[in-house]
Amino acid sequence: MSETVAIATLHGKGAIIRPILAELGWQVQELNSFDTDSLGTFANERARFMSPVECTLRKAAIAADLSGCAIGLGSEGSFSAGPFGLGTFNQELISAVNIEAGWVVTGRFYGPSAVQQWTISDHTALQQALKQLPADQRLLIQQQQQICKGLTLAEAEQQATQLLANGALQLSYDLRAHCCPERQQHIAHAARDLLQRLKQHCPVCATPGFWPDHALPGLPCEDCGAPSSLTRLRRASCQRCQHTESYPVAKSFAAAQYCQICNP
Ligand SMILES: [Zn+2]
Ligand SMILES: [Zn+2]
Repeated sequence: MSETVAIATLHGKGAIIRPILAELGWQVQELNSFDTDSLGTFANERARFMSPVECTLRKAAIAADLSGCAIGLGSEGSFSAGPFGLGTFNQELISAVNIEAGWVVTGRFYGPSAVQQWTISDHTALQQALKQLPADQRLLIQQQQQICKGLTLAEAEQQATQLLANGALQLSYDLRAHCCPERQQHIAHAARDLLQRLKQHCPVCATPGFWPDHALPGLPCEDCGAPSSLTRLRRASCQRCQHTESYPVAKSFAAAQYCQICNP
């Protein structure tokens, strides 16, 4: 059954998500009347006052509301230091909100990112930085209050060469989806995660998103049988009728190294 769903974006996200959610019979329609930058931008001209999850839900609800569709989609990316403080990681969230039926399902991607920024004070440093960039990545240049966005490598080189006469500048990845091929791939991963979650329906009330997100520890130790820190069960709960189901993991026992008694 075909269903039109709306996404508010000025950054071409519809084209990434549309072919993936087509499997559900969904037709993703881009809504250009709402500028999602009002909810915060990467370049920080607008401060972010919501968490990424709040932001994606808010965007999805606004898209449904403005379009008149029952279902709206919202997408939000964020960047932070990776596990153990190493490297930069990108999180992409995509939520589908059904404002008529009253449910929300969120797909996720979390993984390492190549994004960088440089303080450039001479032409040699500029050349070095440009050499490290993927050819189709767009760039952002900041110098004092001035920001130039969406620059191709050639445009960035030209712009930066001029600006260097006034002093140092910041060169960085333009992180908006249509400017960042890496994010486009990560958004597609999050959309595929969303698709898998949407395909799982509650066996009682058929609400989508019946997904075993909740891990319960206590897999018994192979030597002494005491509960270990490893996952014993995964549990799915329906957000609408509260029905739950538990799924035991494939293994019956945990290695003794995970046991508090055998390996304290
Ligand atoms: Zn249910
Ligand atoms: Zn043990």
